[in-house]
Amino acid sequence: MRFFHIVCGVCFLFLVGPTQADTWRKVTLKLDISAGALVGSSVGVDGVKIPIVINAPELKKSEHAEDTGYIDFRYGAFIPIGSGWLPSLQSGDLGWSVEVVTPPDFVTVPFPDGEIIETSYENITRFNVPKLASAPLVIGRFHIAELEADGITIRTFFSSANSKLAKGFLESADEAIGALSARIGPYPYSAFSIVESPLPVGLGFPGFTLVSARILPMPFMKGRSLWHEISHVWWGNGVFVDYAKGNWAEGFAVFFADYALASRKSENAARDMRLDWLLEFDALPPEKRFPLRQFVTKSHGQAQAIGYGKAAMVLQMLERKIGAQVFDNCVKKFWNDWKFQKVGWLEIENTFSECSGSDLSSFFKRWLDDPGAARADLTDQDFLTFRHLAPAERVSTLRLFLSASLLEPQFLGGVIDNRIGIEKALKTVGNVGAGGLPIFVGTRQDIAKLVIDLPPEAGSGIWASRLRNGGGDVIAISSTNSREAISLIMRSHHYGRYSWVIPQKNGRAKTGRWNG
Ligand SMILES: [Zn+2]
Repeated sequence: MRFFHIVCGVCFLFLVGPTQADTWRKVTLKLDISAGALVGSSVGVDGVKIPIVINAPELKKSEHAEDTGYIDFRYGAFIPIGSGWLPSLQSGDLGWSVEVVTPPDFVTVPFPDGEIIETSYENITRFNVPKLASAPLVIGRFHIAELEADGITIRTFFSSANSKLAKGFLESADEAIGALSARIGPYPYSAFSIVESPLPVGLGFPGFTLVSARILPMPFMKGRSLWHEISHVWWGNGVFVDYAKGNWAEGFAVFFADYALASRKSENAARDMRLDWLLEFDALPPEKRFPLRQFVTKSHGQAQAIGYGKAAMVLQMLERKIGAQVFDNCVKKFWNDWKFQKVGWLEIENTFSECSGSDLSSFFKRWLDDPGAARADLTDQDFLTFRHLAPAERVSTLRLFLSASLLEPQFLGGVIDNRIGIEKALKTVGNVGAGGLPIFVGTRQDIAKLVIDLPPEAGSGIWASRLRNGGGDVIAISSTNSREAISLIMRSHHYGRYSWVIPQKNGRAKTGRWNG
């Protein structure tokens, strides 16, 4: 049965049992928006009260708000984990029991679940954070929509501008949680929230995901991206990552969300995704390759090809090696044995070896410790092995643009007025300077004289190609309007796997790869 309601009182008592409830460190905070501060205290089991005062700048005055946080009259607050809003625990503490009070225009996002009490003069949010489940504190001028599905409260915390998107997100999250629960094991918390953020983020935390307001309306957000973040509730925020032993959770999230969705669509779509992982790795210069076991985060270099693509490919190969049925059983066992604990690749190897009854040590050693890929193999036309591509299998994609270390804009025909704006936009992709990857900006006709590929669709767009007469790689932006060209550059961040993107009037985009 489904129904909408305002307050959810389901809490962590189910997980920990009421007898241990007194070992949660109490954290009480009040938002003073005009002072730009969160003020309160924490009390541990010893009864000693420690004051907490957190100040943060307004959003527009904070250059790296993701790290420093903000407290802002317009947007509310974002308080990172490192700010100390959750004070250190003493041994034996289960976590933090949090209460946040805000003025009535603001709401605090509870996680991984909790309750919100709204009154005419203040809003109170209460939730218990288990010790491994820490996350940022998020407060905003949110409209809350709710869907109760199979005992899980799914909520959206959106601004009024985006509140019309809530229904679609709630339904999509419900579907993802159902599918992932069936495949892995029951969803580990009693709530899940999708939270809009003015920051350029897409991050998964225990029981919630933060999504940038700018990309929230994009069609892929409530599909593939939402599934990916929801699968992190199991992989990374349910079974936790022991970062010192490598971050396995991205590969799991890609495999159980992005790849599962592609496989559900068609075998062809799954094959295309495997090819994409190989293309991405193949484009990495040898000095940027490192063993998968050493992957920690994609924020440095092009590590995504390893920590996401290669890791997902290893799971795909493991599934074929031990058989889909055995693989699924082992996934359930891994979840069941390790939830709410920190693990590394070794625990994964041991669980799968034991559960499948086969020694998988050489398999894991090869794919986790060898920085390379298998040799190109033209008999593997379904891209089932993590391997290099033969020259004939390579395709130019916009990844070329997104991973270039230096970009050099070249304005064809002198039709662009705001060159500085375009250079600024290019700086969100990479460094700009002479001798970099050529970025042609001009009309389709002018570009056609210089490059070998043209998208099959007419209209302004961006694509990756090669120069005529055996020349090198190039990015083409067909537009004579600098605002449009800037928007094409900004959009390309989401389309690295495609050769060309032609945005349509309805806000969607036509995309494709040169080899179909
Ligand atoms: Zn992820």
